[in-house]
Amino acid sequence: MKKNVMLAGIRATGKLHIGNYLGALKQFVELGNDPKNECYFFVADLHALTTPFEPDQLRHDTLEVVAEYIAAGLDPKKSALFLQNHVSEHAELAWIFNCITPLGELERMTQYKDKSKQHKDNINAGLLTYPTLMAADILMYKPNGVPVGDDQVQHIELARIVARKFNNKFGQTFPEPKPYERKPLRIMSLKDPSKKMSKTGDDALWISDSPEEISRKLKKAVTATDGSGSDGVENLLLLLRHFGTKPQIQYFEDGLKQDTIKYSELKETLAKEIADYFADFRERKRELMSDKNKLASILADGAGRAKQTAQETLLEVKKKIGLL
Ligand code: ATP
Ligand code: MG
Repeated sequence: MKKNVMLAGIRATGKLHIGNYLGALKQFVELGNDPKNECYFFVADLHALTTPFEPDQLRHDTLEVVAEYIAAGLDPKKSALFLQNHVSEHAELAWIFNCITPLGELERMTQYKDKSKQHKDNINAGLLTYPTLMAADILMYKPNGVPVGDDQVQHIELARIVARKFNNKFGQTFPEPKPYERKPLRIMSLKDPSKKMSKTGDDALWISDSPEEISRKLKKAVTATDGSGSDGVENLLLLLRHFGTKPQIQYFEDGLKQDTIKYSELKETLAKEIADYFADFRERKRELMSDKNKLASILADGAGRAKQTAQETLLEVKKKIGLL
Protein backbone atom coordinates (compact mmCIF):
# COMPACT_ATOMS: atom_id res chain seq x y z
CA MET A 1 0.00 0.00 0.00
CA LYS A 2 1.32 3.44 -0.95
CA LYS A 3 1.69 5.59 2.13
CA ASN A 4 0.87 9.22 2.57
CA VAL A 5 4.19 11.06 2.66
CA MET A 6 4.24 13.92 5.17
CA LEU A 7 7.09 16.21 5.97
CA ALA A 8 7.59 18.95 8.51
CA GLY A 9 10.49 21.12 9.57
CA ILE A 10 11.10 22.07 13.18
CA ARG A 11 12.88 25.29 14.18
CA ALA A 12 16.06 24.70 16.20
CA THR A 13 14.87 26.83 19.07
CA GLY A 14 15.28 24.72 22.20
CA LYS A 15 12.44 24.16 24.61
CA LEU A 16 8.79 24.41 23.64
CA HIS A 17 5.79 26.05 25.26
CA ILE A 18 2.29 24.79 25.62
CA GLY A 19 1.21 26.65 22.44
CA ASN A 20 3.94 24.92 20.40
CA TYR A 21 2.81 21.64 21.90
CA LEU A 22 -0.90 21.95 21.12
CA GLY A 23 -0.43 23.87 17.88
CA ALA A 24 2.30 21.75 16.31
CA LEU A 25 4.11 19.02 18.23
CA LYS A 26 1.01 17.10 19.36
CA GLN A 27 -0.36 17.11 15.83
CA PHE A 28 3.00 15.89 14.45
CA VAL A 29 2.99 13.04 16.97
CA GLU A 30 -0.48 12.03 15.79
CA LEU A 31 0.57 12.14 12.12
CA GLY A 32 3.70 10.10 12.89
CA ASN A 33 1.75 7.45 14.78
CA ASP A 34 -0.79 6.97 12.00
CA PRO A 35 0.32 3.86 10.08
CA LYS A 36 -1.11 5.33 6.86
CA ASN A 37 1.65 7.98 6.91
CA GLU A 38 5.33 7.94 6.08
CA CYS A 39 6.67 10.96 7.99
CA TYR A 40 9.86 12.95 7.77
CA PHE A 41 10.58 15.39 10.61
CA PHE A 42 13.76 17.40 10.54
CA VAL A 43 15.31 20.15 12.61
CA ALA A 44 15.99 23.02 10.23
CA ASP A 45 19.46 23.77 11.55
CA LEU A 46 20.72 25.15 8.23
CA HIS A 47 17.85 27.59 8.18
CA ALA A 48 18.80 28.64 11.71
CA LEU A 49 22.05 30.10 10.33
CA THR A 50 20.18 32.87 8.51
CA THR A 51 19.53 34.87 11.68
CA PRO A 52 22.12 35.70 14.38
CA PHE A 53 23.20 32.60 16.31
CA GLU A 54 25.83 31.38 18.78
CA PRO A 55 27.44 27.97 18.10
CA ASP A 56 27.05 26.64 21.67
CA GLN A 57 23.47 27.81 21.87
CA LEU A 58 22.66 26.26 18.48
CA ARG A 59 24.16 22.93 19.56
CA HIS A 60 22.19 22.96 22.78
CA ASP A 61 18.90 24.14 21.26
CA THR A 62 19.06 21.52 18.51
CA LEU A 63 19.45 18.65 20.96
CA GLU A 64 16.87 20.05 23.31
CA VAL A 65 14.20 20.35 20.65
CA VAL A 66 14.93 16.79 19.47
CA ALA A 67 14.71 15.49 23.06
CA GLU A 68 11.42 17.31 23.59
CA TYR A 69 9.90 15.89 20.41
CA ILE A 70 10.82 12.34 21.37
CA ALA A 71 9.83 12.79 25.01
CA ALA A 72 6.43 14.11 23.88
CA GLY A 73 5.74 10.93 21.93
CA LEU A 74 7.27 11.30 18.48
CA ASP A 75 8.48 7.77 17.76
CA PRO A 76 11.77 7.82 15.81
CA LYS A 77 11.17 4.20 14.79
CA LYS A 78 7.97 5.16 13.00
CA SER A 79 9.07 8.52 11.58
CA ALA A 80 12.42 9.62 10.21
CA LEU A 81 13.65 12.24 12.69
CA PHE A 82 16.84 13.95 11.56
CA LEU A 83 18.91 17.09 11.33
CA GLN A 84 18.78 18.96 8.03
CA ASN A 85 22.59 19.30 7.94
CA HIS A 86 23.03 15.51 8.15
CA VAL A 87 21.31 15.01 4.82
CA SER A 88 23.54 17.16 2.65
CA GLU A 89 21.34 16.49 -0.39
CA HIS A 90 19.09 19.29 0.93
CA ALA A 91 21.80 21.91 0.40
CA GLU A 92 22.75 20.46 -2.99
CA LEU A 93 19.21 20.50 -4.30
CA ALA A 94 18.77 24.02 -2.92
CA TRP A 95 21.71 25.19 -5.03
CA ILE A 96 20.11 23.73 -8.16
CA PHE A 97 16.82 25.42 -7.26
CA ASN A 98 18.65 28.72 -6.72
CA CYS A 99 19.65 28.55 -10.35
CA ILE A 100 16.08 28.23 -11.65
CA THR A 101 14.32 30.60 -9.22
CA PRO A 102 13.81 34.21 -10.37
CA LEU A 103 15.30 36.70 -7.92
CA GLY A 104 12.04 38.66 -7.94
CA GLU A 105 10.14 35.71 -6.46
CA LEU A 106 12.52 35.67 -3.50
CA GLU A 107 12.58 39.41 -2.99
CA ARG A 108 8.83 39.61 -2.61
CA MET A 109 8.64 37.01 0.20
CA THR A 110 7.10 38.47 3.34
CA GLN A 111 9.49 36.68 5.68
CA TYR A 112 12.51 38.08 3.82
CA LYS A 113 11.12 41.59 4.02
CA ASP A 114 10.32 41.23 7.75
CA LYS A 115 13.61 39.61 8.75
CA SER A 116 15.75 42.01 6.77
CA LYS A 117 14.02 44.87 8.57
CA GLN A 118 14.53 43.12 11.93
CA HIS A 119 18.21 42.30 11.33
CA LYS A 120 19.36 45.36 9.36
CA ASP A 121 22.99 44.65 10.27
CA ASN A 122 22.84 41.06 8.98
CA ILE A 123 20.96 40.90 5.69
CA ASN A 124 22.84 37.85 4.46
CA ALA A 125 22.20 36.03 1.20
CA GLY A 126 20.84 33.03 3.11
CA LEU A 127 17.96 35.15 4.34
CA LEU A 128 16.99 35.74 0.71
CA THR A 129 17.47 32.16 -0.50
CA TYR A 130 15.84 30.63 2.58
CA PRO A 131 12.76 29.66 0.49
CA THR A 132 14.75 27.71 -2.13
CA LEU A 133 16.31 25.63 0.65
CA MET A 134 12.83 25.11 2.02
CA ALA A 135 11.62 24.12 -1.46
CA ALA A 136 14.45 21.56 -1.53
CA ASP A 137 13.52 20.27 1.96
CA ILE A 138 9.98 19.71 0.76
CA LEU A 139 10.31 18.58 -2.86
CA MET A 140 13.09 16.12 -1.98
CA TYR A 141 10.50 13.76 -0.45
CA LYS A 142 7.66 14.45 -2.94
CA PRO A 143 5.19 14.71 -0.05
CA ASN A 144 1.40 14.50 -0.26
CA GLY A 145 1.06 17.05 2.49
CA VAL A 146 3.13 19.56 4.40
CA PRO A 147 1.69 20.44 7.81
CA VAL A 148 2.56 24.10 8.31
CA GLY A 149 1.12 27.10 10.11
CA ASP A 150 -0.39 30.02 8.15
CA ASP A 151 2.89 31.93 8.28
CA GLN A 152 4.54 29.30 6.07
CA VAL A 153 1.89 29.05 3.36
CA GLN A 154 3.75 31.54 1.15
CA HIS A 155 6.82 29.30 1.30
CA ILE A 156 4.80 26.29 0.14
CA GLU A 157 3.54 28.46 -2.71
CA LEU A 158 7.15 29.20 -3.68
CA ALA A 159 7.95 25.47 -3.59
CA ARG A 160 5.04 24.98 -6.02
CA ILE A 161 6.51 27.62 -8.33
CA VAL A 162 9.92 25.93 -8.21
CA ALA A 163 8.35 22.52 -8.90
CA ARG A 164 6.42 23.93 -11.87
CA LYS A 165 9.51 25.62 -13.31
CA PHE A 166 11.58 22.49 -12.93
CA ASN A 167 8.90 20.24 -14.42
CA ASN A 168 8.33 22.55 -17.39
CA LYS A 169 11.98 22.75 -18.24
CA PHE A 170 13.20 19.24 -17.45
CA GLY A 171 10.09 17.02 -17.52
CA GLN A 172 7.64 15.96 -14.85
CA THR A 173 9.61 15.30 -11.66
CA PHE A 174 8.03 16.98 -8.67
CA PRO A 175 4.34 16.83 -7.71
CA GLU A 176 3.27 20.31 -6.57
CA PRO A 177 3.17 20.19 -2.76
CA LYS A 178 0.03 21.16 -0.88
CA PRO A 179 -0.18 22.56 2.63
CA TYR A 180 -1.80 20.07 4.97
CA GLU A 181 -4.30 22.07 6.97
CA ARG A 182 -3.46 21.84 10.63
CA LYS A 183 -6.22 22.38 13.12
CA PRO A 184 -6.06 26.13 13.77
CA LEU A 185 -5.31 26.81 17.39
CA ARG A 186 -3.80 29.72 19.26
CA ILE A 187 -2.84 29.71 22.89
CA MET A 188 -2.57 33.24 24.22
CA SER A 189 -0.01 34.66 26.63
CA LEU A 190 -0.92 34.19 30.29
CA LYS A 191 0.25 37.70 31.17
CA ASP A 192 -1.21 39.48 28.17
CA PRO A 193 -4.03 37.47 26.59
CA SER A 194 -4.23 39.85 23.64
CA LYS A 195 -0.92 38.38 22.38
CA LYS A 196 -0.18 34.80 21.42
CA MET A 197 2.04 32.83 23.76
CA SER A 198 5.49 32.99 22.24
CA LYS A 199 9.01 31.72 22.90
CA THR A 200 10.32 35.23 22.82
CA GLY A 201 7.43 36.78 24.72
CA ASP A 202 6.99 37.09 28.46
CA ASP A 203 7.10 34.03 30.66
CA ALA A 204 5.68 31.32 28.39
CA LEU A 205 4.37 28.15 30.03
CA TRP A 206 7.08 25.66 29.01
CA ILE A 207 6.06 22.03 28.72
CA SER A 208 9.18 21.16 30.73
CA ASP A 209 8.22 23.47 33.63
CA SER A 210 8.13 21.86 37.06
CA PRO A 211 4.73 21.54 38.78
CA GLU A 212 5.72 24.46 41.04
CA GLU A 213 6.54 26.67 38.07
CA ILE A 214 3.30 25.74 36.31
CA SER A 215 1.35 26.59 39.41
CA ARG A 216 3.21 29.90 39.90
CA LYS A 217 2.64 31.00 36.30
CA LEU A 218 -1.02 30.05 36.29
CA LYS A 219 -1.64 31.84 39.60
CA LYS A 220 -0.43 35.04 37.99
CA ALA A 221 -2.43 34.52 34.78
CA VAL A 222 -4.57 37.54 33.87
CA THR A 223 -8.27 36.81 34.15
CA ALA A 224 -9.73 40.28 33.67
CA THR A 225 -12.12 40.53 30.75
CA ASP A 226 -12.00 43.71 28.73
CA GLY A 227 -14.49 42.75 26.04
CA SER A 228 -11.99 43.12 23.20
CA GLY A 229 -11.76 39.40 22.64
CA SER A 230 -8.52 39.28 24.59
CA ASP A 231 -10.01 37.15 27.24
CA GLY A 232 -7.66 35.44 29.67
CA VAL A 233 -10.40 33.28 31.15
CA GLU A 234 -11.33 31.95 27.72
CA ASN A 235 -7.65 31.08 27.21
CA LEU A 236 -7.56 29.13 30.49
CA LEU A 237 -10.75 27.31 29.52
CA LEU A 238 -9.20 26.45 26.17
CA LEU A 239 -6.27 24.88 28.03
CA LEU A 240 -8.67 23.04 30.32
CA ARG A 241 -10.47 21.61 27.28
CA HIS A 242 -7.17 20.06 26.24
CA PHE A 243 -5.83 18.93 29.58
CA GLY A 244 -8.87 18.57 31.86
CA THR A 245 -11.39 15.77 32.29
CA LYS A 246 -14.95 15.98 30.91
CA PRO A 247 -16.53 16.66 34.33
CA GLN A 248 -13.96 19.39 35.05
CA ILE A 249 -14.65 21.06 31.71
CA GLN A 250 -18.41 20.88 32.30
CA TYR A 251 -18.07 22.24 35.81
CA PHE A 252 -16.05 25.30 34.85
CA GLU A 253 -17.98 26.03 31.65
CA ASP A 254 -21.24 26.03 33.65
CA GLY A 255 -19.60 28.18 36.29
CA LEU A 256 -18.57 30.71 33.67
CA LYS A 257 -22.09 30.90 32.21
CA GLN A 258 -23.63 31.34 35.64
CA ASP A 259 -20.91 33.73 36.70
CA THR A 260 -20.06 31.58 39.70
CA ILE A 261 -16.63 30.54 38.46
CA LYS A 262 -13.79 30.88 40.95
CA TYR A 263 -10.69 31.77 38.98
CA SER A 264 -8.36 30.50 41.68
CA GLU A 265 -10.07 27.13 41.57
CA LEU A 266 -9.83 27.00 37.77
CA LYS A 267 -6.13 27.87 37.95
CA GLU A 268 -5.40 25.24 40.59
CA THR A 269 -7.23 22.53 38.67
CA LEU A 270 -5.50 23.46 35.46
CA ALA A 271 -2.06 23.59 37.10
CA LYS A 272 -2.53 20.10 38.50
CA GLU A 273 -3.80 18.62 35.23
CA ILE A 274 -1.02 20.16 33.14
CA ALA A 275 1.66 19.11 35.63
CA ASP A 276 0.31 15.53 35.60
CA TYR A 277 -0.05 15.44 31.84
CA PHE A 278 3.62 16.27 31.35
CA ALA A 279 5.03 14.20 34.24
CA ASP A 280 6.24 11.37 31.97
CA PHE A 281 7.45 13.91 29.45
CA ARG A 282 9.66 15.63 32.03
CA GLU A 283 11.19 12.31 33.08
CA ARG A 284 11.84 11.13 29.50
CA LYS A 285 13.33 14.45 28.53
CA ARG A 286 15.68 14.36 31.50
CA GLU A 287 16.83 10.86 30.52
CA LEU A 288 17.39 11.81 26.89
CA MET A 289 19.31 14.99 27.70
CA SER A 290 21.62 12.99 29.96
CA ASP A 291 22.33 10.45 27.20
CA LYS A 292 23.67 12.43 24.25
CA ASN A 293 24.99 9.25 22.62
CA LYS A 294 21.52 7.86 22.42
CA LEU A 295 20.23 11.09 20.85
CA ALA A 296 23.10 11.00 18.36
CA SER A 297 22.30 7.45 17.35
CA ILE A 298 18.59 8.22 16.92
CA LEU A 299 19.52 11.15 14.67
CA ALA A 300 22.01 9.09 12.66
CA ASP A 301 19.35 6.45 12.07
CA GLY A 302 16.83 9.10 10.97
CA ALA A 303 19.33 10.70 8.60
CA GLY A 304 20.12 7.29 7.11
CA ARG A 305 16.48 6.71 6.31
CA ALA A 306 15.95 10.18 4.89
CA LYS A 307 19.08 9.82 2.77
CA GLN A 308 17.67 6.81 0.93
CA THR A 309 14.91 8.96 -0.56
CA ALA A 310 17.07 12.08 -0.82
CA GLN A 311 19.78 10.33 -2.83
CA GLU A 312 17.22 8.91 -5.24
CA THR A 313 15.66 12.31 -5.85
CA LEU A 314 18.97 14.08 -6.27
CA LEU A 315 20.22 11.48 -8.74
CA GLU A 316 17.02 11.82 -10.76
CA VAL A 317 17.43 15.62 -10.77
CA LYS A 318 21.10 15.52 -11.75
CA LYS A 319 20.38 13.18 -14.65
CA LYS A 320 17.54 15.33 -15.91
CA ILE A 321 19.49 18.57 -15.85
CA GLY A 322 22.59 17.16 -17.47
CA LEU A 323 25.01 16.91 -14.56
CA LEU A 324 27.30 13.93 -15.18
P1 ATP B 1 8.70 32.97 18.07
O1 ATP B 1 7.99 33.91 18.98
O2 ATP B 1 10.17 32.98 18.20
O3 ATP B 1 8.20 32.98 16.64
P2 ATP B 1 6.93 30.81 18.64
O4 ATP B 1 6.51 30.69 20.07
O5 ATP B 1 5.96 31.45 17.69
O6 ATP B 1 8.33 31.51 18.64
P3 ATP B 1 7.71 28.95 16.63
O7 ATP B 1 8.97 28.17 16.71
O8 ATP B 1 7.60 30.12 15.72
O9 ATP B 1 7.32 29.38 18.12
O10 ATP B 1 6.53 27.95 16.26
C1 ATP B 1 6.61 26.55 16.32
C2 ATP B 1 5.23 26.01 16.03
O11 ATP B 1 4.32 26.29 17.10
C3 ATP B 1 4.60 26.63 14.79
O12 ATP B 1 4.00 25.60 14.04
C4 ATP B 1 3.56 27.59 15.33
O13 ATP B 1 2.45 27.72 14.45
C5 ATP B 1 3.15 26.95 16.64
N1 ATP B 1 2.79 27.96 17.64
C6 ATP B 1 3.60 28.94 18.09
N2 ATP B 1 3.00 29.67 19.04
C7 ATP B 1 1.75 29.13 19.19
C8 ATP B 1 0.64 29.44 20.06
N3 ATP B 1 0.69 30.45 20.92
N4 ATP B 1 -0.49 28.69 19.95
C9 ATP B 1 -0.53 27.67 19.06
N5 ATP B 1 0.48 27.32 18.24
C10 ATP B 1 1.62 28.02 18.30
MG1 MG C 1 6.56 31.96 15.61
